[in-house]
Amino acid sequence: MAGGWAPDGAEQAQIDASLDDALAFVRQHLPSGDSAHECAECGDTIPEARRQALPGVQLCVACQEILDKQQQFQAAYNRRGSKDSQLR
Ligand SMILES: [Zn+2]
Repeated sequence: MAGGWAPDGAEQAQIDASLDDALAFVRQHLPSGDSAHECAECGDTIPEARRQALPGVQLCVACQEILDKQQQFQAAYNRRGSKDSQLR
């Protein structure tokens, strides 16, 4: 079938490009390399077991939990926001 359709592969190329972007973002922001000895947020000592379990870890358990909750809240908030804007 011809006419009016995007060239074959155009859509897939777009998906690949955004996947590459996402992967690059994750690689940049994923902690890697040396684990911190002290929490980047509160300065508490990060237990050796945690440092070894999570290579590149920068936060203590307490701060990581707070951050996770904030991210969950943001995700929920963003979902609600986009749903509202669809209804209007
Ligand atoms: Zn902390």
